[in-house]
Amino acid sequence: MSLITSIPSNSNFIDGVWSPPKNGQSYVVCNPARPQEAVGEYPHSTFEDLDTAIGAAAAAYRGWATTPAPQRANILLRFADLLEQSKDELGRIITLEMGKALPESVGEVGRAAAETRFMAGEACMPHGTSFPSERPGYSCHTSREPIGVVASITPWNFPVVAPVRKIAPALAYGDTVVCKPASQTPGCAAFLMQLLEKAGLPKGVVNLVIGPGREVGDALVDDPRIAGISFTGSSDIGTRIYERAARRLASAQLELGGKNPAIVVNCDDLRGAAREIVSAALVCSGQRCTALSRVLVLDTQANALVEQILKQVEGVKVGDGLAEGTTMGPLASLSQFKTVAEYVKTGKESGFELLTGGEALVKSPEEEGYYFQPTVFDKVSPDSSLAKEEIFGPVLPIIRVKDLDEAIAIANNTRYGLAASVFSSDPYILNQCADRIDAGMIHLNHGTASQAHVPFGGHKDSGQGAFSIGPSAREFFTILKAVYTKL
Ligand code: NDP
Repeated sequence: MSLITSIPSNSNFIDGVWSPPKNGQSYVVCNPARPQEAVGEYPHSTFEDLDTAIGAAAAAYRGWATTPAPQRANILLRFADLLEQSKDELGRIITLEMGKALPESVGEVGRAAAETRFMAGEACMPHGTSFPSERPGYSCHTSREPIGVVASITPWNFPVVAPVRKIAPALAYGDTVVCKPASQTPGCAAFLMQLLEKAGLPKGVVNLVIGPGREVGDALVDDPRIAGISFTGSSDIGTRIYERAARRLASAQLELGGKNPAIVVNCDDLRGAAREIVSAALVCSGQRCTALSRVLVLDTQANALVEQILKQVEGVKVGDGLAEGTTMGPLASLSQFKTVAEYVKTGKESGFELLTGGEALVKSPEEEGYYFQPTVFDKVSPDSSLAKEEIFGPVLPIIRVKDLDEAIAIANNTRYGLAASVFSSDPYILNQCADRIDAGMIHLNHGTASQAHVPFGGHKDSGQGAFSIGPSAREFFTILKAVYTKL
């Protein structure tokens, strides 16, 4: 029995039609808060379904690309309104599928609406440049055109905002789309298709194929009808996609993992810093690419900061994301749970000081939910796996440093470069960090919350290609053309 009754069971959405996969096979998504509870049944699609979806998106492309931009924008505005109107229902689906606390889920839907509205405006913005001609009697200008069919491959941690962050700019700039959502959260993507339909999107413009990435992923990335791949997920799968896309010179926009530091040096407001750090570390149970996942604190301030961090952690209420008062839900899946438990075991075995947490919250996570306690380790070695690898869970390692230079050196000593926070009362220190930390996004005196119209992306193994969100999305979703005219 499915808990989500508003979505067609075991169906893809291809060319405006809900239909089961050609092989008829399905799989069941379970609630991470109660793993025995089935949330919904979804298609185990194969290459055949993908082929039909890509065909539909390719056939719809010319018509959509030539639809006047204000009309495209109006559909996006209707879609944004529908997102707002359904934020409680869609928020509940997010929580049922991947566990995060309901207020976070509802907030995610609101954020998706805000990003969509920005993109509706972006559809009608001027683009292109005119140039003086070096030859008399000629004019020269550049324009930007849609790239064609875009593949959207998205993770489970932000199952609404991640696909919308790809669908909305694609539609604004005139591209058509094939979506491959994470297998953990297909219901959210299916719900989005229903809203797009209601908003009046012509058939074939956005298509949804649900199936395992390891089976359909390569076929999607390799298909010559796909002009570009916009991917959010792990750095390892992102690297694989980038390699395959490069073989046929397809473009790629990759939003990948992070190991985001919080640097605390000469900070007068340690209570405020701790509040921001703990929130940014534990939102979404730490399963965020921009989660703060290590604290680098000056030796002389470390004890006082630790005290404040522990006070903040005490206030966290772990439980079913749908339950009143829950501030941190379970981990999204058994595999996430096992990964986190393994990192914590390594932390204990390495002799780092376990300040709080360190255990599952229930005796049998397989039956009672994938709950893990918020966990803080102190005096963590900067070269350990806890300090350098993306844990993607509610685990916060603290590293004590002797000065600012050491903090910046450690901050930069990972494969990642997504986001960083700095807490200091000294403008010189804030400026030094903003200049010298190699990350796509620097947050001074606050956590790692981004905004719905500001470019979002990473350096090093945290990203590749155009930043998403805001006007920089245009660099991926459109292509440049130069036009010379003899007058
Ligand atoms: P993945 O990177 O494996 O999955 C992200 C998306 O890619 C999913 O839709 C997945 O499909 C799809 N995919 C998987 N394999 C391929 C492939 N060969 N070709 C194309 N698409 C593919 O992330 P996971 O969900 O497995 O999470 C693993 C780890 O990745 C996490 O623990 C975390 O460290 C990191 N991660 C980072 C995220 C971020 O926001 N930066 C988001 C999610 C994960 P399917 O779900 O069917 O496998």
